Amino acid sequence: MPVGSAERREVDVDVLVVGAGLAGLVAARALVAAGRTTLVAESRDRVGGRTLNHPLGDGEVAEVGGQWVGPTQERVLALAAELGVKTFRTHYDGKNLLDLGGRRRRYRGAIPRMAPHVLLDVDRARRRLDRLAQTVPLEAPWKADRAAELDATTVASWMDRNVRTRRARTLFEIALGSAWGARSSELSLLWLLFYVRSAGGFDAIIDTEGGAQQDRFIGGSQILSERMAKGLGESVVLDAPVRRIEQDGDGIVAGADGLEVGARRAIVAVPPNMTSRISFRPNLPGRRDQLAQRMPAGALTKCTAVYAEPFWREDGLTGEAVTDHGPIESTFDNSPPGGSPGVMLGFIPGSTAVEHARLPVSERRRLVLDCYQRLFGEAAGSPLDYFEQSWAEEEWSRGGPVCNPAPGALSAYGEELRRPAGRVHWAGAETATVWCGYMDGAVRSGERVAAEVLAAEGWQI
Ligand SMILES: Cc1cc2nc3c(=O)[nH]c(=O)nc-3n(C[C@H](O)[C@H](O)[C@H](O)COP(=O)(O)OP(=O)(O)OC[C@H]3O[C@@H](n4cnc5c(N)ncnc54)[C@H](O)[C@@H]3O)c2cc1C
Repeated sequence: MPVGSAERREVDVDVLVVGAGLAGLVAARALVAAGRTTLVAESRDRVGGRTLNHPLGDGEVAEVGGQWVGPTQERVLALAAELGVKTFRTHYDGKNLLDLGGRRRRYRGAIPRMAPHVLLDVDRARRRLDRLAQTVPLEAPWKADRAAELDATTVASWMDRNVRTRRARTLFEIALGSAWGARSSELSLLWLLFYVRSAGGFDAIIDTEGGAQQDRFIGGSQILSERMAKGLGESVVLDAPVRRIEQDGDGIVAGADGLEVGARRAIVAVPPNMTSRISFRPNLPGRRDQLAQRMPAGALTKCTAVYAEPFWREDGLTGEAVTDHGPIESTFDNSPPGGSPGVMLGFIPGSTAVEHARLPVSERRRLVLDCYQRLFGEAAGSPLDYFEQSWAEEEWSRGGPVCNPAPGALSAYGEELRRPAGRVHWAGAETATVWCGYMDGAVRSGERVAAEVLAAEGWQI
């Protein structure tokens, strides 16, 4: 990759960008397009952050981080089009599986075959969430009517009052797990409502057809960052974790491993939980740091089994399943566009993911393959390859898919999410108002922060 190596050196640029995920790279690209010089310091030995391709051989990949895109995710789709990256439909022909309480059922489309009173319960709760979400202003969820009350309510306590049946509660819990990487007891209702509104509705978050899981990128999502980094060339420096950012009236000086960077401004495009690991001089305002301390990352593990063919398709199955058997809670057909090899993807969310990571590798593999076998039959027990990606174990993410403000944090300190701290500006999926927490949100945040920095310096766009 044509990026600079991290030898010890001093660099002066207009803007330092911390983090070569989608947000940081989009910001750097926009600044370069406006005629500014940038340096993107990335702690890992690769770009892409929470997106990551796992090679399958023969040029095919399976994504082990963020991967799907949906119809209203316009900014990431526009970026892909600019970079010459095409999308393809997530495989969704056939029937889905529902495996609850020891009973397995097949169903077509988004609505599982369940007792009418359970379906009604799910539908009522979902519509209530959508209605409530409409009351939360996207630019400032902390200004919602009853913001403090909504923020003091966990999604678990809201479900206690609004979701009557055990089955419906289980379904919600599973949906929350893969979308937020957290349990209902950990999520603030205000945050959930904001997130739902920012995505355009609860269905947009959980649906495949017409929703956030509809399409994938040919070549895998990480290819977006790789292409942007290629375009930025030497100004992307890998293996360069930024440890310290000092600022005064004239500019900033940042210390990364092997690198000292002087710039007018810094864009910090790392997840909120990771900002606390950078030392700022002068100290960040108390409110900003309090916010970062209260935005832990969710936990999500992706478990991938590779087979010669996606044999479940022959059996009339989409490969999508929801199960309360554990440790896997939901599955997807994650095969490449040509359908070969067959790739089965399963999610383990929240504390279950963290506990799973503590087990010996062979035990983890057995538990997951038992689950796949239970859902898709004998053949699922003997993959050609098996691998897991536990985001909680990743040094430079420490979780995913998103950092969720703890109950009470968004209403008290949410204003600090995008407020610059002097010459330090913030980007990243969590700072987005549309598709917050998603790749699309990350791209939007990169565009927003670049415009913010240009305006702050009075530089021409
Ligand atoms: C398992 C999983 C599944 C997901 N599924 C989807 C999905 O299907 N669709 C979707 O749209 N989104 C999904 N997401 C979310 C999506 O991946 C993220 O929203 C998006 O990639 C975030 O981009 P970002 O640039 O904001 O942050 P990141 O990708 O986290 O980038 C931040 C970068 O900063 C670097 N960094 C951290 N600290 C430092 C430091 N001190 N110095 C220098 N560099 C530093 C990191 O290494 C990283 O490269 C998923 C995420 C995960 C983990």
